[in-house]
Amino acid sequence: MKIHEYQGKEILRQFGVPVPRGIAAFTVQEAVEAAQKLGGPVWVVKAQIHAGGRGKGGGVKVAKSIEDVKRLAGEILGMQLKTHQTGPEGQKVRRLYIEDGADIQKEYYVSVVTDRESQKIAFIASSEGGMNIEEVAHSHPEKIIKVFVDPLIGLTDAQAKQISDGIGMPGNSTAQAMDVFQKLYKCYMDTDASLVEINPLNRDSKGNVMALDAKFNFDANALYRRPEIVAYRDLDEEDAAEVEASKFDLAYISLDGNIGCLVNGAGLAMSTMDTIKLFGAEPANFLDVGGGATPEKVTEAFKIMLKNDKVKAILVNIFGGIMKCDTIATGIISACRAVNLSVPLVVRMKGTNEEMGRKMLAESGLPIISADTMADAAQKVVAAVKAAA
Ligand code: ADP
Ligand code: MG
Repeated sequence: MKIHEYQGKEILRQFGVPVPRGIAAFTVQEAVEAAQKLGGPVWVVKAQIHAGGRGKGGGVKVAKSIEDVKRLAGEILGMQLKTHQTGPEGQKVRRLYIEDGADIQKEYYVSVVTDRESQKIAFIASSEGGMNIEEVAHSHPEKIIKVFVDPLIGLTDAQAKQISDGIGMPGNSTAQAMDVFQKLYKCYMDTDASLVEINPLNRDSKGNVMALDAKFNFDANALYRRPEIVAYRDLDEEDAAEVEASKFDLAYISLDGNIGCLVNGAGLAMSTMDTIKLFGAEPANFLDVGGGATPEKVTEAFKIMLKNDKVKAILVNIFGGIMKCDTIATGIISACRAVNLSVPLVVRMKGTNEEMGRKMLAESGLPIISADTMADAAQKVVAAVKAAA
C-alpha cells in the first residue's frame, strides 16, 4: 500500500526525522490559508499523487508570495500530472501540500528496502539525490552504495557512519545524518514498511540534514496490525478495478493486454499469463479467484474483467481440487448470463468432476470454447482475439 508524501512526512515527524513544516490542502482557499499560517517567505506547492517524478512533471513549484501560492495551487490542483511513474494518461491531482521552502545546499538519496536475497534490510544511498535514482544507477552505478542490515542486530553506528561517509556527507553533518538513518531504520521496522525512500535528503548551508521528500510502501500482509497506516489509504489513487476486486476478496491486478484471465491459485495464474504471452498475446489482468470460488465470486470476477473495454476475450483456467469443476461450471454459466457475455470465452477445467463440468458448459447453450491443455487453451484464446481484431 502506498501513501502520500505529506502522510509520509507525518510519520517521519513521529519518528523524529527532520522535515519542513507543511500543511495539506484540498482547495485553493485551503492552500492560501496554509501558506498564511506557515508565514513564508518561501513556500513550495506540491502535488500529492502516489507517484514520484512530480517535480519534472510540473507538480512541484516554488512560490515567493501568497499570490504565487494561490496561482500555483490553482494550476496544479486538478491537473492531469504525468510523470515517469504514472503512465501516459497521468494522474489527477486532488490534494496539495504547502511546505516551507528549504535552503538546499546538496541533495542526497537514501532508501530502505527489504532485500530478499540476503534476507536483510538494505540501505541504498547516493550522493546524487534529487534526480531519478534509476538514471543514476544506469549512468553512475559507482555512486550508489548499499549497506545490508541484519534485522536481529539492527543498524549499527558503524553502518550508519559507513552510509554517511559513503555518500560524502561532510564531517559537521555526519552525526545528524547518522541519527536520520537510525530513525529511518526504526520507522521502517515499526510501520511494517516495504520501502522508505527519501529523495532528496537535503543538507542546507548550515549543515543541517532534512528529508524533503518521503515515499512509503507498506507490506499489505501486515496491514491487519497497522490500522493507523490503513487510515492513510487514498482509494482515488488506486486502480478502480483492483479496489472493486478487493471488496470480493479477489486477488486482481490490472495489466495492459486484452485477454482477461480468471484462474484459481496464484501459481496457475502466473503460468497462464506466461502461456498467453508464449503464444503471442498479452493478458489484461492477473486474477486469482482463490480456493473458495463461489458462483457469486466468479460472477463478480467476470464483471470486473469486462469493465475493462480493452478485454477482447476471456480465458478461464481452473483446477478443480477443493472446488469441484461442476461448481465452477455453475459459476461460469450464471456469470455469463448475468453479465451478458459479449466476448469469446475459452474454458479449461481440470480435476474433480471435470467431465461433469464440461458437459454442463456444453449443454448450457452458451458459446463457450472448451480447451484441454494449457497450450490448447492459450492458443484458442489468442486465436479468438486475433479473429476479433
Ligand atoms: P518528486 O520526487 O516527486 O519530483 P520532490 O518532493 O522530490 O518530488 O520534489 C522535487 C524537487 O523539488 C526536490 O528534488 C527539491 O529540489 C525540490 N523541493 C521539494 N521540496 C522542497 C522544499 N520544501 N523546499 C525546497 N525545495 C524543495
Ligand atoms: Mg523526490
